[in-house]
Amino acid sequence: MDRLFVRKLSGDEGQVVLLASSATPRLGRKSIPVPDASFASGCCESPDMTSKHAPVLIIGSGPAGYTAAIYAARAMLKPMLVAGLQQGGQLVITTDVENYPGFADPIQGPWLMEQMLKQAEHVGTDVINDIITEVDLNVRPFRAKGDSGTTYTADALIIATGAQAKWLGIPSEQTFMGFGVSACATCDGFFYRGKDVAVIGGGNSAVEEALYLSNLAKSVTVIHRRSDFRAERILSERLFKKDNVRVIWDTVVDEITGQSGKTPLPPSVEGLKLRNVVTGQEMHLTVDGVFVAIGHAPAVELFAGKLKQKPNGYLWTAPDSTCTDVPGVFAAGDVTDDIYRQAVTAAGLGCMAALEAEKYLAGIEVHREAAE
Ligand code: FAD
Ligand code: NAP
Repeated sequence: MDRLFVRKLSGDEGQVVLLASSATPRLGRKSIPVPDASFASGCCESPDMTSKHAPVLIIGSGPAGYTAAIYAARAMLKPMLVAGLQQGGQLVITTDVENYPGFADPIQGPWLMEQMLKQAEHVGTDVINDIITEVDLNVRPFRAKGDSGTTYTADALIIATGAQAKWLGIPSEQTFMGFGVSACATCDGFFYRGKDVAVIGGGNSAVEEALYLSNLAKSVTVIHRRSDFRAERILSERLFKKDNVRVIWDTVVDEITGQSGKTPLPPSVEGLKLRNVVTGQEMHLTVDGVFVAIGHAPAVELFAGKLKQKPNGYLWTAPDSTCTDVPGVFAAGDVTDDIYRQAVTAAGLGCMAALEAEKYLAGIEVHREAAE
């Protein structure tokens, strides 16, 4: 199956290695650039810079972005969709998807996203492999700058940038990131065949990561800070039935221990320093790899100070709508949904965003014609 693997090597603004299959153009090693301060003032373009315009620009290629594209294209709005670093979104880093309606048997996340891509392209979406590094929402048409150097302009903007993995934030996590610390079992689990691994977290992602790893690793230890999983019961019960999985409850990771790496040897993880949050007791767990699965944070950096956010950082939208506080800008999927965060709800919000964008554009057209 065609797959897209993304391995994060350092923090959110750091280097990212992207390995793509034949289904997706290879972007190679990329570094996310520092935003160009001249962009907002509109003076950033050199004469050779390319520019593309469409009535609707969609940022993001997860379920929200592709669904918005399918609806916008079928409304003859000729959408451009900029896919970003993780083409297909979060579902490309998972395996079985059992709760997306329409499929009697479990389907693979990457396969589902490939189907959405093909459907979006089939109905006329221009899917572009680029990363938006800056947006200007003060001008009309809206402007978005791509990592490729292209400037995208659009009369309506749909933000579907989803969410990114959260990290523990302890210094040793940075030391071993990409060298024993990962946030993606389906990407990196293979390296831990027959080894001992730990999974941190207690939500659906952590339990799914642990289930996946239990088929590869010798042992899987799940470390959760409370005494009860947040994950759905059906997943938890599956986990409890696994012989090579154990759970350490009420416990947090204070430090990841190991060899910090001396040329020519890379860093390597040897264990975890754990602390029981109820008793205060400390312990050491020997593991070869650590999978951090403590949730996701909305990808909102591009819009900080430009769009209203909820107190928890998610993009604000008007009740029962995808409208942000800037007319013509819509937000859909995990970038705005802090409650459900499911593929099907993201797709539903993508549909709403396209329909609302269509209505907005029709309104602009009426005003334009009236003024003429
Ligand atoms: P995402 O899927 O997060 O996609 C965001 C998109 O935005 C990406 O394509 C990214 O490249 C793009 N992007 C971000 N920044 C930029 C930028 N600057 N420029 C251009 N593009 C950008 N849900 C289920 O319903 N069922 C499941 O079984 C399930 N399993 C999951 C397993 C895992 C491991 C994880 C992490 C999540 C799972 N979820 C599942 C949740 C589901 O994946 C998300 O709810 C859904 O993907 C959200 O879709 P989205 O389109 O809002 O955003
Ligand atoms: P989540 O539901 O937010 O769970 C995060 C887990 O990590 C929680 O158990 C949380 O503990 C723990 N945690 C958070 N910060 C921590 C920290 N600093 N240190 C230690 N532990 C920490 O995130 P998720 O599991 O990634 O799921 C995100 C969304 O995607 C959810 O809506 C989920 O339903 C969806 N999803 C669905 C599926 C599926 O349908 N099969 C699969 C994966 C994800 P507390 O419990 O104490 O808060």
